[in-house]
Amino acid sequence: MFSKPDEQGKYGIYGGKFAPEVLMTALTELELAFNQVNSDKSFKEDLSSILTTYAGRPTPLYYAKNLSEMCDSKIYLKREDLVHGGAHKLNNTLGQCLLAKYMGKNRIIAETGAGQHGVATAMAAAVFGMDCEVYMGTEDIERQKLNVFRMRLLGAKVNPVDSGSKTLKDAINESMRDWVTNVENTYYLIGSVVGPHPYPLIVREFQRVIGKETKEQILDAECRLPDAIIACVGGGSNALGIFYEFLEDQEVELIGVEAAGKGLETGDHGASICAGTEGVLHGMYSKLLQDEYGQIKQSYSFAPGLDYPGVGPELANLAAVGRVKMDCVTDKATLSAFVSLSKKEGIIPALESAHAVHYAIEEAKRRAKDTLIVVNVSGRGDKDTFIVEKELGE
Ligand SMILES: *Cc1c(COP(=O)(O)O)cnc(C)c1O
Repeated sequence: MFSKPDEQGKYGIYGGKFAPEVLMTALTELELAFNQVNSDKSFKEDLSSILTTYAGRPTPLYYAKNLSEMCDSKIYLKREDLVHGGAHKLNNTLGQCLLAKYMGKNRIIAETGAGQHGVATAMAAAVFGMDCEVYMGTEDIERQKLNVFRMRLLGAKVNPVDSGSKTLKDAINESMRDWVTNVENTYYLIGSVVGPHPYPLIVREFQRVIGKETKEQILDAECRLPDAIIACVGGGSNALGIFYEFLEDQEVELIGVEAAGKGLETGDHGASICAGTEGVLHGMYSKLLQDEYGQIKQSYSFAPGLDYPGVGPELANLAAVGRVKMDCVTDKATLSAFVSLSKKEGIIPALESAHAVHYAIEEAKRRAKDTLIVVNVSGRGDKDTFIVEKELGE
């Protein structure tokens, strides 16, 4: 097996548990509870049922005929944009809310940057009848008013965080503080394959469903495995989710695409693996964007979900050992793929996903005719139309 963490939660040199002493007990309790439910039949049935009837799984694997003709290859799209809420994030929030319920905790807390994880958490908490509080920087609240309204509509309480840079990293600090204080009845729900062990493992397990379905679907459609699978990488959850089932299939190339933003040379990007260095952030040792003194640098991408200065440890390790190939795509190149997929297939992808779509189009041109490629369309782009309208100057 490529990717089993050791007892300290490390994947190669990455991962681990870098948390204050007071949280160690909570993390251990979480790990035990997760191991228990992960082999529990009734938990699996409950999760599978809610994923089917509420989230809309399985999502289709769609053969993108027009896009394929355009680049002389066979491109399939895994339609996570069709999951309830418009992205893969709900796979994880439903899984973790159900885990919290099994642990007897009825209060969910989360932090959010752009608000997408906050909304997915609020949905899952609502459907399971749990209390939900989301920490969000006041700067982000100002920029993402619509998501704040959505969270409130879904019954969540949004707690503004006015310290530091008033963005995601300050919201994370506040969530940690809350968790330490209220760990008796509170579950802290992390939104990607990041954070201290066991979070990267838990989130990957809940996102694995993407790859499991994809494998069955591509074998049904083509009677063989794809030549390449391509996914965008913010924290790494949609990428690991679709990659994991194929790790042992050496003939399948796995490619993760980070945000090159305005270009790596400008420093305005979100490419933690392609351009980052090793360090500790959010309780994990991983690849990060930081200066020579270890101060975290501001990440940048016009895709809100890729605007994060770190990446999950398991993915960092898979890249380091060469099983996953990493590359990055700029805002500008992404914009062209966003438009192409909309025009060619009638699918408006999330700006995050459009990074992977762009890479797929270029990869198809580089490879032999009829190369079989699967792209993970992690979300839909309705949320991004304002950004794109401004970028296109229309
Ligand atoms: C949040 C988000 C991402 C980035 O998160 P990962 O954990 O890297 O998957 C990508 N796409 C969409 C649509 C998102 O909402």
